[in-house]
Amino acid sequence: MTVEIELFMCRTDNFGALLHDPRTGETAIVDAPEEAPILAAIERRGWNPSTIMTTHHHGDHVEANLALKNRFRLRIVGPESERDRIPGIDDTVEEGSVIPFGDETIEVIETPGHTAGHVCYHLPRSKVIFTADTLFALGCGRLFERPAPVMFESLKKLAALPADTVVYCGHEYTLSNARFALTVDPDNAALRDRAAKIEALRAADKPTLPTTIGEELATNPFLRWADPAIRKNLGMEHATDAEVFAEIRKRKDNF
Ligand code: ZN
Ligand code: FE
Repeated sequence: MTVEIELFMCRTDNFGALLHDPRTGETAIVDAPEEAPILAAIERRGWNPSTIMTTHHHGDHVEANLALKNRFRLRIVGPESERDRIPGIDDTVEEGSVIPFGDETIEVIETPGHTAGHVCYHLPRSKVIFTADTLFALGCGRLFERPAPVMFESLKKLAALPADTVVYCGHEYTLSNARFALTVDPDNAALRDRAAKIEALRAADKPTLPTTIGEELATNPFLRWADPAIRKNLGMEHATDAEVFAEIRKRKDNF
């Protein structure tokens, strides 16, 4: 990882993140849930942000867009299909868009499901991805604007990234996600270990991020549609991967 990342809490359970290239000094804010903690993080690091990268239009991801734009005269980038709902947006991106960032490039991956235009920001060289409300640690976003088969395809794209890709997501939902995960995958030793670590981190009020794609593949039930033990547990040995995913998502909605 060549970039630096400053992670902090906003609102009640949103993560804020700053992304910084140490050589050029370029700094981006990944989503803008709340102005004060973002300003505090900028101050703490002494970085000067030039961009907000918006993942999707929900209020808890764009609330501070205009205030930060006024203060820093920065540029706001976000998904083309949600441009009318993202305050202050300047430039739009879509699948395959490449944003130059210091010595890095940020590649845009469209991941519809939670919202119709949700995007993730991937830094292939530093092996980092910001997944916001698509892929959470041990979870995935609720399906507000697109159905399960669409989210399944989005998650398949993330599952195909290198296993050592470091993942930052949009919310600290990991503890409740872990409790749900254990109901569908109770005999998974890696999951049980991870759940214990998460309990300890949250008891100490520490964040459960970052995670990695590899860790999620081993423990996140929303990426484990092919796992024989989960399928057996659900009575879905002969279902398609997309059907297994949809059933797990449905159970989580009712958990
Ligand atoms: Zn959201
Ligand atoms: Fe959110």
